[in-house]
Amino acid sequence: MMSREILTTLNKEIEDFLTERGAIRVGFATLETLAGGPPSTDLKYVLPEAKSAIIYALPLDRKKIRDFLAKKEHYKAELDDKKVNEKIHENNKELAKWLQEKGHNAVALKNNNIYRTELKGWKRDMHPDISHRYLAAVSGVGSFGWSGNIGIKGFGTAIMLGAIVTDAELAPTPRIPPEEGFCTNCKLCVAVCPAGFFDAREEIEVIIGSEKFTYSKRHDKFRCQLVCGGFAGLHKSGKWSTWSPGRFKIPDDDEKLFPVLADAFYKYTKWPERKPPGGVSNPIAPDVKLRMTCGMCQKVCTGNEEKTRQNYELLINSGCVIQNPDGEILVLPPEEAQEAFDALPRKHRKLYC
Ligand code: SF4
Ligand code: SF4
Repeated sequence: MMSREILTTLNKEIEDFLTERGAIRVGFATLETLAGGPPSTDLKYVLPEAKSAIIYALPLDRKKIRDFLAKKEHYKAELDDKKVNEKIHENNKELAKWLQEKGHNAVALKNNNIYRTELKGWKRDMHPDISHRYLAAVSGVGSFGWSGNIGIKGFGTAIMLGAIVTDAELAPTPRIPPEEGFCTNCKLCVAVCPAGFFDAREEIEVIIGSEKFTYSKRHDKFRCQLVCGGFAGLHKSGKWSTWSPGRFKIPDDDEKLFPVLADAFYKYTKWPERKPPGGVSNPIAPDVKLRMTCGMCQKVCTGNEEKTRQNYELLINSGCVIQNPDGEILVLPPEEAQEAFDALPRKHRKLYC
């Protein structure tokens, strides 16, 4: 595989283009380096004449993440997430236009909430058009952590990925060798997931372009939908929560998950509006605004064991969230939160459990 030193001129121009716009890593994947991967590595799905993909990472604001984990400040991290998403959208559009002006076809990918809706059961399986994670791992933009999130040394997984698919011929960049990845295997991403989405011991393998990639086995996707969707957030210890006031008990048995998710989702639509207002829509529930209340597996991980442990401590000592009937969000120590919750009007309380 071609080294970074002998990348083509076009590669270099693209790398400079994205670096000037905030990218901390830029990589390139081709039909060859993606061959034999899962369907979401098939670039021709979005551009039949595709030859290459460009993938890059932008960092999230770590101070805002720490305040989010410590439950000092919810909205600023939510806004940063939105801003970085918008920046990616803008960069992608500009780069696609720039490539088109040079005579190439190019498709700017959305970096979230795009699913292969033609597949049966897409709402459950949520297969993306193209997997940014796989592109990033194959092209060496980052590597898989135990969580399956992509991370970079010095940044951990607190990054967002952008991608463009093009018919331009680009030189591929190599993957990061497994022994040089950022992940310290601390498994704190497992510990901060109230949904129990990741297995702590079992891993899965994905083969792409004859390279083997591994990360933790994931459990039923309804788990993450329930918590990452913002409908539930209380950790089973009862000692801390995400930023969701939902207190639904998350069953250990996957078979029992769907009724809980359906009930929680229905009740979520009756919750008073959170202040300040915000949130994003998802094609699975287009009429509902979802707030960023979790993403703890991504946010906790700095790639430095000591700092990740500090983030973990901030989260597990951050208390629990409840919501008053007027929409106000309160953050309280766990016992006080339980008392305040029990004292809420019955009809309102029933919306959260
Ligand atoms: S939290 Fe620890 S185990 Fe999980 S991805 Fe980060 S470094 Fe790896
Ligand atoms: S986003 Fe939240 S619920 Fe989903 S896997 Fe990460 S920690 Fe678990």
